[in-house]
Amino acid sequence: MLKTHSCGELTAEEADKDVVLTGWVDSLRVQGKIAFLILRDREGITQCFLNPNLTNEFKDLSKESVVLVAGKVKNRPENQIRRELTTGEIELGVDKIEILSRAETPLPIEIEEETTTHLDKRLDFRFLDVRRNRIKSIFKVRAKIYQYSVEFFTQEGFINIQTPKLTQSGVESGAEEFKLDYFGKPASLSQSPQVYKQMMVASGLEKVFEIGPVFRAEKSHTTRHLTEFTGVDFEMGFVKDEHDVMDVVEKYIKFVLEKVKRECKEELKMLDIKLKVPKEIPRLEMSEVKKLLAEKGKEIPADDDLDPEGEKMISKIVEEKYGSELLFVINFPWSVRPFYHMRPKGIVTGTKSFDLIYRGVELSTGAQREHRLEMLDKQAKEKGINLKEMTFYRDIFRFGCPPHGGAGLGLDRITEQLLGLKNIREAILLPRDVERLTP
Ligand code: ATP
Ligand code: MG
Repeated sequence: MLKTHSCGELTAEEADKDVVLTGWVDSLRVQGKIAFLILRDREGITQCFLNPNLTNEFKDLSKESVVLVAGKVKNRPENQIRRELTTGEIELGVDKIEILSRAETPLPIEIEEETTTHLDKRLDFRFLDVRRNRIKSIFKVRAKIYQYSVEFFTQEGFINIQTPKLTQSGVESGAEEFKLDYFGKPASLSQSPQVYKQMMVASGLEKVFEIGPVFRAEKSHTTRHLTEFTGVDFEMGFVKDEHDVMDVVEKYIKFVLEKVKRECKEELKMLDIKLKVPKEIPRLEMSEVKKLLAEKGKEIPADDDLDPEGEKMISKIVEEKYGSELLFVINFPWSVRPFYHMRPKGIVTGTKSFDLIYRGVELSTGAQREHRLEMLDKQAKEKGINLKEMTFYRDIFRFGCPPHGGAGLGLDRITEQLLGLKNIREAILLPRDVERLTP
C-alpha cells in the first residue's frame, strides 16, 4: 500500500512516528510561510502543516486533488485541539508531498457537507457527491441493511437463490416491462422474481430468498420509484396463512432496525436520525383502514387501493394510536391484487394479502399464493389472463406444490424510509428513472 495509516486512525500514541498518508485535499490554508492542509480519506481527516520549504511549491494545490504526504506525527498543544476533527489530538508535520492526481478547477459541484447544489446536478457527478461524509454514511448504512438481510434470512433457514433477469414476458401485467430482443425472440427484463421463487418452493427448497435487481418501466416521476431497484424477495412453503408470512416480514424489519440502531450509531448521528423499533406491528384490515380514513374526510371506495395520500394519512393515524411507525394493511380487495394471491375461503372480493407501510410509504407487498391449480386457472381467467400460454408457470402447480406465501420488499425504499431521505434517488448510488440513464 502507498500509505502506512488512514486519516482517521492516528492518535497521540503515534506521536513522533514517521507515517505516510494518502487522500483528498479537503482544504489548504496558507498563512505566510506556513500552510495547513486538511487531508481527507474514507476514515476521517487529519490536519497537516507543511514544512515551510514546501509552501511555495504547493500553495496553489487545488481542492480535491489526490496526494500522498509523508512526515512526523506531532502532539498538538492542548489549546489548539479542534474537537470537530476526528484526529484532534495530533497533526502531521509534512516534509514530502506527492501529487498523485491534480483536481481541475472549478469543481462542477460543491463538496461541502451542507450544500445547496440540486440533486440532479449532484447525481450527474455522483462520485464527487459521495466524497461528502453525509452521503458516505447513507451508503455505509445501505451496505449494512443488505448484510443484515442476508444474515436474517439465512439464519431463518431461507436459501439464498439467484434467478434469471432475462425472461420471457412477465407473469404480471406487461405495462411496466422493458422489452428487448433476445436473438430474434421477444423478451423482457425481470419485473419480479415471483415466478421463480414460487417455483423454488415447489422444487423442495421450501424456503428461499433473493436480493437482486428488479426492472420496471415506471413512467411516473415520484420520490419512491426507480426503473431499476434492488428487491428483497422471499417465499416459503407450508404456511398456514398470510400471517405466517407477515410474521417473517415483521421479524425481518425489526431485526434490520434493531441492528442499524445498534451498529450504525455514528452514521445515524451524522444523518440526525432517531430510530424507533416497534414492539409489535399493528395489522389493520383494509376495511378498518378505510373507515379511519373516512373519519378524517378521505373516502376510498371498497374496491380501490390506497393511494399515496391514504398511505401517509393512515401511517400518521396509526402512529398516534399505537405508537408504531410501521403498520400492516391486510385483506386487500381482489380487484387490486394479482391473480395468484389466494382469496379467503368463500370470499371472492378479498385476498389473503398485505402491505407493510413505514412512515407513510409502502415497503412491502406479500400474500399467501394460490397453489391449487383449478383455483388458479379460475382466478387467472377472471383477470383476463390465459394461463395456458404460461405453461412453465402452470407446471409449478401440477406435480406437488406446497401451500406457500411470500413477500417482496425494496432495499432502496427501506434505506430511503429508514434514513428519512426525501427522495429514493438519495438511497441509491446511481439511480435509473424515466430521465436518467447516465452516469
Ligand atoms: P408501489 O405501489 O409503491 O408502486 P408496487 O406495489 O408496485 O409499489 P410491488 O410489486 O408490491 O410494488 O413490489 C414490492 C416492493 O418493491 C414494494 O413494496 C417496494 O418496496 C419495492 N418497489 C416496487 N416498485 C419499486 C420501484 N419502482 N422503485 C423502487 N422500489 C420499488
Ligand atoms: Mg405493492
